[in-house]
Parts: sequence; structure tokens; C-alpha cells
Amino acid sequence: MFTWTKLTMSCPACISMGLSPGPSTSWYHANCGGVIEVSKYAELRCSYCGIIKHFRYWRWGCPRHGNAGKENYFQETNASSIAAQISISASLSPRMGRRWLMIFLDYLGEW
Ligand SMILES: [Zn+2]
Ligand SMILES: [Zn+2]
Repeated sequence: MFTWTKLTMSCPACISMGLSPGPSTSWYHANCGGVIEVSKYAELRCSYCGIIKHFRYWRWGCPRHGNAGKENYFQETNASSIAAQISISASLSPRMGRRWLMIFLDYLGEW
């Protein structure tokens, strides 16, 4: 048994592309609009449709690095960009914290 926490972070695709990432925000599943949640096992879940996938299999859409409706909107990222953003988010969340972050980074891996 473990907890899902609402994902709040800046766009990891922008960071991996060397762009200014903008403010930390909530994330929503493009397919259904559901709120995206994160677990300490480096997985993301859509709270509406229930899909669960490891971070590496998600792509990220934001208006800073692409145009909605265009091919460049959804971009991949990499583990170091995720780690940088999640570290900030975990330090701000009472449901996460240092031990959560250590497990998360272990499961996140290198890619
Ligand atoms: Zn972006
Ligand atoms: Zn969904």
C-alpha cells in the first residue's frame, strides 16, 4: 500500500530542451483530462482513467516548448530533468519528503 500524490512540477520537457521551465503546475492527462498523480515508485497515474506508467513512458505538453495541436506539443524528457523538478516538489510536500525522494530516484533510474 502506498500513496499517490498530485503531481506538481515545472515542465520537464522544457528543462531537457534547455528552455526556461516556467512555474510549477498541476498536470492533466491529455487523453481524458484527469489529474496526474505520482508515486514513490516513479510511476504516474491518471486519477480519472486509471492508466499507470513509469515516468519514462510519458510525454509532456506545454505552450512554452510547443503549440497545442501541433506535433511539437508533446515532447519526451529525461531522468535528470525529472529528478531536478521532483526534488523541488518533494521538498515542498509533507506527503513526500526526503525518504520518499530517495526511493523515487532509485526507481526513476537513468534514461
Ligand atoms: Zn514544456
Ligand atoms: Zn486519463
